[in-house]
Amino acid sequence: MISALMPNYARADLAFERGEGAWLWTGDGRRLLDFGSGIATASLGHGHPHLVKAIADQAAKVMHTSNLYRIPQAERLAQRLVDATFADSVFFCNSGAEANEGMIKMMRRAMSDAGKPEKYRLICFEGAFHGRTLATLAATGNAHYLEGFGPVVDGFDHVPFNNMNAVRDAIGPATCGIIVEPVQGEGGVRPADMQFLRDLRAVCDEYGIILGMDEVQTGIGRTGKLYAHEWAGITPDVMSSAKGIGGGFPLGAVLAKEQFAKVLVPGTHGTTYGGNPLACAAGNAVLDIILAPGFLEEVERKGRKLMQALEQIAKEFPTVFEGARGLGLLLGMKCVVPQGKVQAACVAEGLMAITAGDNVLRLAPPLVVTDSDIEEAVAMLRKAASKVAAEVGRAAAQ
Ligand code: PLP
Repeated sequence: MISALMPNYARADLAFERGEGAWLWTGDGRRLLDFGSGIATASLGHGHPHLVKAIADQAAKVMHTSNLYRIPQAERLAQRLVDATFADSVFFCNSGAEANEGMIKMMRRAMSDAGKPEKYRLICFEGAFHGRTLATLAATGNAHYLEGFGPVVDGFDHVPFNNMNAVRDAIGPATCGIIVEPVQGEGGVRPADMQFLRDLRAVCDEYGIILGMDEVQTGIGRTGKLYAHEWAGITPDVMSSAKGIGGGFPLGAVLAKEQFAKVLVPGTHGTTYGGNPLACAAGNAVLDIILAPGFLEEVERKGRKLMQALEQIAKEFPTVFEGARGLGLLLGMKCVVPQGKVQAACVAEGLMAITAGDNVLRLAPPLVVTDSDIEEAVAMLRKAASKVAAEVGRAAAQ
């Protein structure tokens, strides 16, 4: 008989009762170190007192009123994002896929309003992940994810990642713009070359097309900058954000320059929940922490520390790992053995890591992770790797 919860996930048999910082406790008393952060989302870890208080205080006042009325919490959060980024205006929604839907609509509408409705096609990249709605699945372009869901939404062209010649070849009279992740998260923690991002900006300017950045996974401090494109010294025209922006509370956003944001006039786009007082209270509390002086520098330092340890472990266990890659606290280890084997060995040691495409073990701890958490995680990973390496050795000897 089917379970009451639909069977669309292969869930691990772990259920958590509470958390503190980077740690989670199961109902039966097991303590695990969370280096997945609910898929790069619990940016402030678990039970962060400032976030908990902001949510509790707001919930007791008013949670939801709808976008029929002014929402001061959303106005404040939008202003703070505008002040801290390239953007002039922000639209709030509830998830990454919804943010990308909004971004795609905005890009197409901007071209249409500029008198070029024939320019509706978006160039996306092999290995991308943009979400599970019909349009974001088409943008993702992964044949396996699209299978059985009917005609694919038209208007998305895929080219190899980090390949400027392929991008130039794909630009045609119907091209509206380009959508890129600064680090492909789900696709295998593959960073874009910084020069590639700068070249994408230049080619968009050259052809008068729109640069859209999907920073759902890389945004809000994950890579050591507020948004990862800052590493390349460029600005997109429009950008999606979600995951860490609510610290675990569902919140997404589309950030845009005025020229693009202004096309979303009343009646063009909307959401019932998006940017409600409760979600924006969470978003503001997250920003209080992330934008505090020195916080992002600490993310960068801790990311370097973890990366160095991962590179060392990859060298120690060449039968398990090929190498380490990533940016800030979004790191991956390319595995030689199936990545699920390493993940299971990590959980057995008490370390929760997640997987990504391209046979990668992904490590995305909360941004508030401590040095001692990192040291414990590295010790657990080393133990897990040595067990997997021993297994590989035994299998080879047989
Ligand atoms: N875009 C990127 C880069 C992502 O990593 C994800 C989720 O993993 C999404 C979009 C979709 O976000 P959501 O699952 O919140 O719809």
